[in-house]
Amino acid sequence: MDISERLEAVQSQISDAAKQSGRTPDAVTLVAVTKTHPPETIMEACDAGQWIFGENRVQEGLAKIPLLPGRCQWHLIGHLQKNKIRKALPAFVLIHGVDSLELAQNINRIAEELGLFPHVLLEVNVAGEASKFGFKPEDVEREWDALATLDRLQIDGLMGMAPIVEDPEDARPYFAHLRNIRDRLAVHAGCPLSTLSMGMSGDFPQAILEGATMVRVGSAIFGHRKTSKKN
Ligand SMILES: *Cc1c(COP(=O)(O)O)cnc(C)c1O
Repeated sequence: MDISERLEAVQSQISDAAKQSGRTPDAVTLVAVTKTHPPETIMEACDAGQWIFGENRVQEGLAKIPLLPGRCQWHLIGHLQKNKIRKALPAFVLIHGVDSLELAQNINRIAEELGLFPHVLLEVNVAGEASKFGFKPEDVEREWDALATLDRLQIDGLMGMAPIVEDPEDARPYFAHLRNIRDRLAVHAGCPLSTLSMGMSGDFPQAILEGATMVRVGSAIFGHRKTSKKN
């Protein structure tokens, strides 16, 4: 299968899962994850109608963005280092991985200097894995009041990852947990926090069944990545 066929297959799985969860297919946004792939490959996805892309490294994203059509939208899905914030903010329309109050404060300060109001998601470490970034589930509500004072940030919702499991059905409790954290936090915060970014190639249908509004899918569209870098 080529990229356009794989993209179509992913879109149709998204539609099915959205319908099963009582929503319309357009309730779920596909972020095509392009890390490690060259611009020519990404262009094939563009030609097939995909225009929302995710990169996990700022430098890599900044190198590719100017080589692709301006109508493309870029999401930063990986951990954002403090010294990359200034470059990242103007380039990415959504920062998925805001994983600490300190990072949020730094983004807020630099956004103010740059005259920007960046859209962000709070990353929650729902699986409690030491190797993953993110707020601890029990911290995110406690830190909300401090986060809410950061008036440059547009906090659209939450992002999370299930652990790697053999049967994707086993990922569902982690997605349900993230959705529950969001639901509680939304009540506490008095704002909808409507974006739930969860689900990757191995588990995006399950994430949608648990309420994902945004899925980040790489290898199911572009094939396996050559590097073995841990992301
Ligand atoms: C790489 C990556 C993805 C996509 O992973 P696939 O398994 O290739 O779909 C999604 N989210 C994040 C944060 C990633 O780093």
